[in-house]
Amino acid sequence: MHSTKYIFVTGGVTSSLGKGIISASLAKLLQARGYNVTIQKLDPYINIDPGTLNPYEHGECFVTDDGAETDLDLGHYERFLNAKTSQANNITTGRIYQAVIDKERRGDYLGETVQVIPHITDEIKYRIKLLANQGNFDFVITEIGGTVGDIESLPYIEAVRQMRWELGASCLVVHLTLVPYLAAAGELKTKPTQHSVKTLLEYGVQPDVLVCRTEHHLNEGIRNKIALFCNVEPTSVIESIDTKTIYEVPILMRDENLDTVVLKKMNMPIEKELDLNSWLEFLTKLKNPKHEVSIGLVGKYVELKDAYKSIVESFIHAGTVHECKVHLKLIHSESITEANVAEKLAGLSGVLVAPGFGERGIEGKITAIKYARESKTPFLGICLGMQCAVIEFARNVLGLADAHSTEMNSRTTNPVIDIMEAQKKISCKGGTMRLGAYPCKVIAGSKVSEIYKTELISERHRHRYEFNNKYLDSFQNAGFKAVGVNPTDNLIEMMELDNHPWFVGVQFHPEYKSTVKQPHPLFIGFIKAAMNFNK
Ligand code: GLN
Repeated sequence: MHSTKYIFVTGGVTSSLGKGIISASLAKLLQARGYNVTIQKLDPYINIDPGTLNPYEHGECFVTDDGAETDLDLGHYERFLNAKTSQANNITTGRIYQAVIDKERRGDYLGETVQVIPHITDEIKYRIKLLANQGNFDFVITEIGGTVGDIESLPYIEAVRQMRWELGASCLVVHLTLVPYLAAAGELKTKPTQHSVKTLLEYGVQPDVLVCRTEHHLNEGIRNKIALFCNVEPTSVIESIDTKTIYEVPILMRDENLDTVVLKKMNMPIEKELDLNSWLEFLTKLKNPKHEVSIGLVGKYVELKDAYKSIVESFIHAGTVHECKVHLKLIHSESITEANVAEKLAGLSGVLVAPGFGERGIEGKITAIKYARESKTPFLGICLGMQCAVIEFARNVLGLADAHSTEMNSRTTNPVIDIMEAQKKISCKGGTMRLGAYPCKVIAGSKVSEIYKTELISERHRHRYEFNNKYLDSFQNAGFKAVGVNPTDNLIEMMELDNHPWFVGVQFHPEYKSTVKQPHPLFIGFIKAAMNFNK
């Protein structure tokens, strides 16, 4: 049997230190040395998945091919590794408990008292090993959400302790901590790191490698001090200094020898040279743009960029293809009115209307789309963004004044966007949308078919409502055409407007499939149109 190595990434001192990026960067380096790697996120909350969480609190919900609604860190994993993740890559406490309680009801533990140890910890270990067996991986990197010392992440830390005890050198713990700089003292402080390692030690886990997030370089003295107090080798104290772009982090980790430190500790051969050529090419283009454009991102969560993480990253990937820096201007849809739209969107070379749910900000989105259509500004509407484009066209071109989506107005006489047949009987909200990858046939002769250069595509979905095909002829006759259709059930997946330089709406989420290695064709096409709009 293939023997997989397990790397655990824990976090100390504070949240938001970038465990996801460190995990993805380490995975990238191991991949660049020829290893088969996957990353898993264990989240300590009780929701079964983040699909029911508010993006304000938790950022975007990332969707995989197999329809899992997951933590946004999985987006980073896919973007860095150019590899797909699945249901098994994101596990929450809710899912663990649900599985254990189901087993208890089935009678699997008859006679036993069901407890956190061993039943919950066994289920956690089972989920970690299950992923390893699914993909014949050399390494599974498991990121433990939350911060060491949190009550809710204790069972995960205990599972790590047990796996280490059982598997020895096949397991390794990387602990990410903060080394703050006290400006008044003019010094970097190691105490918070010492304390968070002490907390880990209380739970029986000695970290092997410390990744220290810092605003200033760690000198030899600081490294030695951390090593001595935390019981790790000085070479295992890795500096993670702040950078302008997350895409630089794999290079910083390479320079700190994170990959070789890890491989040596796990007795794995370091045979293959690191192959980071295409990554470095991407970075060079990213850092030296020859062009720039400004694009408006119209949504209702604009206070928090994390809510649109994959969209923001997709612009970065696709921008490098044109050596173009895309300045994203986040525009709150609730603030847009007929009176101020021209001023709000002035100077922009493209408008993207974001996905979303519910009524808030809808009229602002529709107004922004009307402006983009009439001013011939390149437009991309994603999911709710496409649905708003349909509503706008129905109202302002087809003359259906009360046209709406039944999501916002169930009594409209012109439901141009309506609930999908399969969704009508569903009453539970969690995990029941049309989720994950579905095929789409691209109609020849359209702009999008020139972009995709293939007839059959597969894209990821997360929605309950759809274009109402009863209106299709009226739309097509007026020039807003279906250019992507699901081949089995005729759901409209892409629409494109005639007599406009670039006006595209997509029911799916292209942003979930954009990676550093494979920027998404729709974003490439959209940025190109925006660059031409400037001319
Ligand atoms: N709320 C819309 C629907 O459920 C759009 C969803 C989205 O933008 N992801 O169909």
